[in-house]
Amino acid sequence: MPKNVIVIGAGFGGLGCAKTFADAKDSSGVAVTVIDAKSWFTIGGTWQYAWAGRVDTSSTTWDLSKCGAQFPGVSMLLDTDVASLDLEGKKVVLGDGTALEYDHLVLSPGVVGDPSSVPGMDATLDMYSHDSIERQRADVQDIVANATAGETQTLLVAIGAVPYKCPVAPFEAAFIADDVIRRAGVRDKVDIVVTAPVAWPLPDPAKEVFVRLFEEKNVRFLPEKTVVSIEGGVKASFADGDAIAASKIWSVYPQRAPDFVKATGACNPRGFVPVNIATNGVEGSDGVYCIGDCCGIAVGGKPHPKAGEFAWQMGEMVAHEIMRTEGYEHSRLGACIAECGAGAGVLVAPDYTQCVKDPEGGKPSCAIQDRKTDGEAAKLDWVNKYIRNIFGEGGRRFEPAAAA
Ligand SMILES: Cc1cc2nc3c(=O)[nH]c(=O)nc-3n(C[C@H](O)[C@H](O)[C@H](O)COP(=O)(O)OP(=O)(O)OC[C@H]3O[C@@H](n4cnc5c(N)ncnc54)[C@H](O)[C@@H]3O)c2cc1C
Repeated sequence: MPKNVIVIGAGFGGLGCAKTFADAKDSSGVAVTVIDAKSWFTIGGTWQYAWAGRVDTSSTTWDLSKCGAQFPGVSMLLDTDVASLDLEGKKVVLGDGTALEYDHLVLSPGVVGDPSSVPGMDATLDMYSHDSIERQRADVQDIVANATAGETQTLLVAIGAVPYKCPVAPFEAAFIADDVIRRAGVRDKVDIVVTAPVAWPLPDPAKEVFVRLFEEKNVRFLPEKTVVSIEGGVKASFADGDAIAASKIWSVYPQRAPDFVKATGACNPRGFVPVNIATNGVEGSDGVYCIGDCCGIAVGGKPHPKAGEFAWQMGEMVAHEIMRTEGYEHSRLGACIAECGAGAGVLVAPDYTQCVKDPEGGKPSCAIQDRKTDGEAAKLDWVNKYIRNIFGEGGRRFEPAAAA
C-alpha cells in the first residue's frame, strides 16, 4: 500500500513539495493529496504592479485547476477548507466534516495577518493581503490627487512585528510609491516613512545599499518604532511616545499560523510552528512537517527569513525526506528582489544551506546585488520561472505594461 501524504496549502511550499513528488523518478510508494481553500495561486511579488496601475488585479492570480499536467500523480482538492487536525489520530478534518487519514502530513498553510495586538490597526490597510490591492491603488491615487491640489501628504508603511514574510516588501512598497508619485510630479508634497519595531529587519549585509536608497529617494526609515495603537486609521502611536499623523497607513499586520494550526497547540509563543531546520519535522508529532511561512526556525538567535523561495525549497526537502531519496543535496538559497522604480532593484539572497547541513555550527551568508538597470527584469524572470514550474510552458506569463 502506498503511504498517504497530505499537503495542506497550494502556495509556494505546498506546490514545491508536490512538484518534487510529481517529478521523482520513483514516487510509487506515496499517494499525494494537496488541499487548498482557494483554487488560485498568486505571487505576492506581482501585486505592486497592480496597485501601481501596470496590470489588472486579475493578472496576479493563476487558476490552479490548470496545473494538473505539471503534477502527474498528485490529487488536488481545491476550494476545500481544512477545519482541524487530529495529530494523534493522524487525520485531517475538512470543513464538511470529512476526515482524511495520513501517514505523512506536510503543513504549508502560510500565515494570517492578525492585528488584534495593536488597537486600531485593523482599520489600516494590510499590505500582505491580496484583498488590499484595490485599496492600495486608490490610496496612491488619493495621495497624488491631494498633493496635486496642494495638500501635504504622508504615506506611512508600518511594520507591526517581526518576523514577517518577504522582509524587503515594505521597503519595496515605499520605493514603488515613490516612483509613482514622482512620475506624477508631486513628490515634493509627499513624505514617505517606513517604521520597523527592530533596528534592522533584513540581513545585515543589505543595510548599506538600502540606506543609500532611502537617501536617494527621500524615504525616511525609522528603526525601533513599535506601533502600539492607531487612531482613526491614520495616526500611529509608538512605544517610545512618538506619534505620526499620516494620510494613509499601509501596515504589515503581525503574522502567525492560521487558527486550525494554532488549535493543535503546536505553535511557539510568537505563533509559528517550531521545526528542526534540517528536516522541518514537528517535534513530538510523528510524520508531521511544517514548511514555509508557518514554521518558526531560529538561527543564531535570529529568525530564518520567510520567503516564497525558501518555502518552495523546504517543500522539496521534505518530499525527498519522505521518499528517502538517496544522494539528495539540499540548497537553501533565497532570492528577494526589492524593486526600486525605473527598472532598478536590489537582489537580497540569503543562503542558509550550511545551517541546514550543520544546524549547530553552520552560519548563514547573504549576497547583495544592486541591479541598477535590470532589477525589474530579474524580478519578472523570477516570477515567470515559478509560473513555468507550476503551469508549464503554456502558463500565462506575467508581463506588466511599462510604468507610465
Ligand atoms: C506583497 C508580497 C511580496 C512578496 N514578494 C516575495 C518575493 O519577491 N520573493 C519571495 O521569495 N517571496 C515573496 N513573498 C513571500 C511569499 O509569498 C511567501 O513567503 C510564500 O507565499 C510562503 O509560502 P507558503 O507555502 O508558506 O504560504 P502561501 O504561499 O501563503 O500558501 C498557503 C496556502 O495555504 C492555503 N490555506 C491556508 N489555510 C488553509 C486551510 N485552512 N485549508 C486549506 N488551505 C489553506 C492558502 O489558501 C494558501 O494557498 C511576498 C509576499 C507578499 C505578500
